[in-house]
Amino acid sequence: MQSTNVLIIGGGPAGYVAAIRSAQAGIATVLVEREKAGGTCLNIGCIPSKALIHAADEFHKRIESGSLANLGIVASPPELNLARLNEWKSGVVGRLTGGVYALLKQAGVRVIHGKARVLDGKTVEVEDVEGQTGKRQRLVCQHLVLATGSEPAELPMLPFGGKVMSSTQALNLETIPKTMAVIGGGYIGLELGTTYAKLGTQVTLIEAREHVLPGWDPELSKPVQKRLRELGVELLLNTRVESGDAVTGELKLKSTDDGERTLQVESVLVAVGRRPRSRDAGIEGLLLDMDGPFIRVDEQGRTSMRQVWAIGDITGEPMLAHRAMAQAEVVAAAIAGQRRRFEPAAIPAVCYCDPEVVLSGLTPSEAKSQYGDVVTASYTFSHNGRALTLDAAEGFVRVVAKRDDHRILGWQAVGPNVSELAAVFTHSIEMCARLEDVAATVHAHPTLSEVLQEAALKALGTPLHG
Ligand SMILES: Cc1cc2nc3c(=O)[nH]c(=O)nc-3n(C[C@H](O)[C@H](O)[C@H](O)COP(=O)(O)OP(=O)(O)OC[C@H]3O[C@@H](n4cnc5c(N)ncnc54)[C@H](O)[C@@H]3O)c2cc1C
Repeated sequence: MQSTNVLIIGGGPAGYVAAIRSAQAGIATVLVEREKAGGTCLNIGCIPSKALIHAADEFHKRIESGSLANLGIVASPPELNLARLNEWKSGVVGRLTGGVYALLKQAGVRVIHGKARVLDGKTVEVEDVEGQTGKRQRLVCQHLVLATGSEPAELPMLPFGGKVMSSTQALNLETIPKTMAVIGGGYIGLELGTTYAKLGTQVTLIEAREHVLPGWDPELSKPVQKRLRELGVELLLNTRVESGDAVTGELKLKSTDDGERTLQVESVLVAVGRRPRSRDAGIEGLLLDMDGPFIRVDEQGRTSMRQVWAIGDITGEPMLAHRAMAQAEVVAAAIAGQRRRFEPAAIPAVCYCDPEVVLSGLTPSEAKSQYGDVVTASYTFSHNGRALTLDAAEGFVRVVAKRDDHRILGWQAVGPNVSELAAVFTHSIEMCARLEDVAATVHAHPTLSEVLQEAALKALGTPLHG
């Protein structure tokens, strides 16, 4: 039986970051990963999806009538070589996962490629998956870090298989389907639905709630829904899938507005959420305290069992890569004896739909319920010089601040490239910036970020450009 100080199960953004930091602190660290380091994010999530979104945007710009013609550019209709696109996407993924393995090695982490099973809070059995030998080894550790992540949730009446796919398959299609139903208008369904619509698929997006991005601010979804309709996406809101046939691709739908109907499609993408792997790999045997499906942790990532830690998607919402990485840093520091806590003032969330959407901190209604009197103001991209020169003037930025001291509590934005504003939004909240700080900061001109300054000026009652 081999021993180590820290043993981490799962090499996604949570696990690999914890492993690097722990080894850098001079602690003997083993990372067990059954597939590929980088986890969902690098292999079947954030990165391949953004690569596809970018390619679909470039392709669509050249076929959308008027979009380039407005700029006086006459482009011949493009052709799509999907095999080449998939190769490029895999190259991006390969470069990043290769980088993670190099960093792990450089830090001195021992990586075991195998499937881990927790026997108790100090002992893990690892089954070899490399040569499919089924060979098992046991490891004992002082600190066990659980980072097993999450996987796509299935619909009970429409399990994955046949024409029914999860985001994992949808990121690796070999042909562009003529028709696709996307069930779920959350960020994954929206990103992939928009991508396939831009690549030429007739997409029907089915959402049970009254707007896409349910749970996000409804005002933000309006420009997105407008754009989806322009792209030819059939948007079925307030609609549920009652049943479906994975062989024929027939779905029976029930809408609170239009009653029942049948839909026939070539493929069905189920994007109804993700399930944390919080009870897999023998973890359930530890009888840890839970918060619903998630493992309960304190602000240092400790579970209810001494020296068993949990990070990433298995510990709760928001199930996002940057939250997982930030939590991992804290856990590695805590194991190394430092007094760090995971207490971010804001965790940004981005949807790379068209136009992009970003949220950081509190929405107006959340701010009102926490602080009572708040001030909000929004400023539109249609008055922003940079947005007009990009021919992308749809959307707005909104700021939310306390009325008494003007401390900024939240930002919401929908518009061109607003994902890149996530950092400045979150910095201002973390640094306890006031509206006056943003309003008095000299913003480069012409940039999209000038909209932040205009929103802050408006919130102070001194708008400059309207
Ligand atoms: C299509 C898609 C797009 C996304 N886009 C974004 C985005 O734009 N931004 C964002 O922040 N997030 C995005 N996410 C979410 C993001 O990928 C996750 O939040 C993030 O990967 C969670 O990290 P994690 O380390 O907790 O888990 P994971 O990344 O899921 O990693 C867990 C790892 O544990 C391994 N594992 C599990 N069980 C065992 C076992 N028994 N033995 C050994 N290894 C095991 C798995 O193989 C996996 O590699 C996206 C997800 C999807 C599916």
